[in-house]
Amino acid sequence: MPQTDYYKDKKYCPRCTDYVRYLQSLEASFCVTCGAKVRLFSSADKRAFLRSLQADKDARKKGSKRVS
Ligand SMILES: [Zn+2]
Repeated sequence: MPQTDYYKDKKYCPRCTDYVRYLQSLEASFCVTCGAKVRLFSSADKRAFLRSLQADKDARKKGSKRVS
């Protein structure tokens, strides 16, 4: 199975501190192992994701300033 499929049906459980299979309800998703609410990314992954967005923005800003 490709890696993308692996993550598609898994979310991060803060109690298991791992990506787990989850049950989708209307308001939230829950870990099938421990029943805790799960989220799309771990906080570390989310920080890394946001940082990469910000770095990209900063790079573009610097680039446009140097145009003159
Ligand atoms: Zn769990």
